[in-house]
Amino acid sequence: MLPQEIIRRKREGDVLSDAEIAFFVQGITDDSISEGQIAALAMAIFFQGMTMDERAALTRNMRDSGTVLDWKKLGLEGPVVDKHSTGGVGDKVSLMLGPIVGACGAFVPMISGRGLGHTGGTLDKFDSIPGYRTTPDLAEFARVTREVGCAIIGQTADLAPADKRFYGIRDVTATVESIPLITASILSKKLAAGLDALVMDVKFGSGAFMENYDRARQLATSITEVAVRNGVPTTALLTDMDQVLGDTVGNALEVKEAVAFLKGSHQEKRVYDVTLALAAEMLALTRVANDVAHGLQMARDALDSGAAAEVFGKMVAELGGPVDFMNNPDRHLEQAPMSAEITAAKTGHVVSMDARKVGLALVALKGGRTRADQKIDFAVGFTDFIKVGQAVSAATPLCVAHVRDENQLAQATQLLREAIVIGEPDVAVDTGQGPAVRERIVATIK
Ligand code: URA
Repeated sequence: MLPQEIIRRKREGDVLSDAEIAFFVQGITDDSISEGQIAALAMAIFFQGMTMDERAALTRNMRDSGTVLDWKKLGLEGPVVDKHSTGGVGDKVSLMLGPIVGACGAFVPMISGRGLGHTGGTLDKFDSIPGYRTTPDLAEFARVTREVGCAIIGQTADLAPADKRFYGIRDVTATVESIPLITASILSKKLAAGLDALVMDVKFGSGAFMENYDRARQLATSITEVAVRNGVPTTALLTDMDQVLGDTVGNALEVKEAVAFLKGSHQEKRVYDVTLALAAEMLALTRVANDVAHGLQMARDALDSGAAAEVFGKMVAELGGPVDFMNNPDRHLEQAPMSAEITAAKTGHVVSMDARKVGLALVALKGGRTRADQKIDFAVGFTDFIKVGQAVSAATPLCVAHVRDENQLAQATQLLREAIVIGEPDVAVDTGQGPAVRERIVATIK
């Protein structure tokens, strides 16, 4: 087979065979196909698209380009399930979700990523816990998953290596925004983790990777169809990222919010709704629960009884973090030297929030990164975040900023006042805010 022939056929809108896709992915993995040819195929797919069967073949071949984990060998007494989010601002859902589902009898070996640009990463949040090993070897990852029910760690190099090369080329050739390619990229890594089921949190809105609702819906549909074609039952929830999720933004601050959530001392409604809805789906898909309503009840019980908090505490201790973390998070999480309210500076209602700009404000404080190799400051960020629709006076705090110095405070104040739009006080506010969980997508094939 010739790579240029495959590129030409896709350029003309033909449907590629499984063998052609397998050949191309092999060439991506072993470097026998050049960067220029890979970029050309990516651009052809960008314009011509792919059928669901082509996407499924691309995903399968990329999944098989490296190690595929096999949990069956461990003899776990329950199914293996994970969640993937397309990323957001203040998205600390994984920190609560993994322990909740683990406490209900499923096993959650969660492989998470670092934040880049305006979106935060679960891995950075765990890196803010002193001693916590986010890169254990596979044996330790398996041991903690089996003994605790949940282990949240970072990507290991040998899962779906074809995606690493392919993504790097897409990133510099304006071909990231192709739904078939995003589908294969996300799913190849997730399916290499050897899951029995997967739940997707596909976010839409100003802070989401897919801002536009219809595009987010197309991605959710594509992912569920392709995962099911590859034998992994998957549902997707479309969730709102048109404002910060929960009350905090910033790595150590979000860990603290997650601990308070698990202990029941503070549970912000939108983050509660998203977390519990995803947990219910995971429990229903794996048949740990009879259906989604039963899954929701099980998840609530695991949270209310303290069982989920216990799983989180054990996971932290088993992966090298402090044994008393749940009782004393403040003793272990770094705190910024200074905190101050950022006020609205005018009277009205919060009519909208550009969550992307909020994420970039965290990057400006060095609490996020613009390049994959940058170190970040875990302590900085924002707490007590205002909600869309709330009435404010000039003195009302939009949030509390946790910063290193006055310069950072001034910078954060300017960026957040740009991000949070205050409307006239006498104009009736229709924020268009629906529930945080907007829609559920299931595959059409079983
Ligand atoms: N995240 C991924 O892992 N891959 C993409 O292509 C886009 C987002």
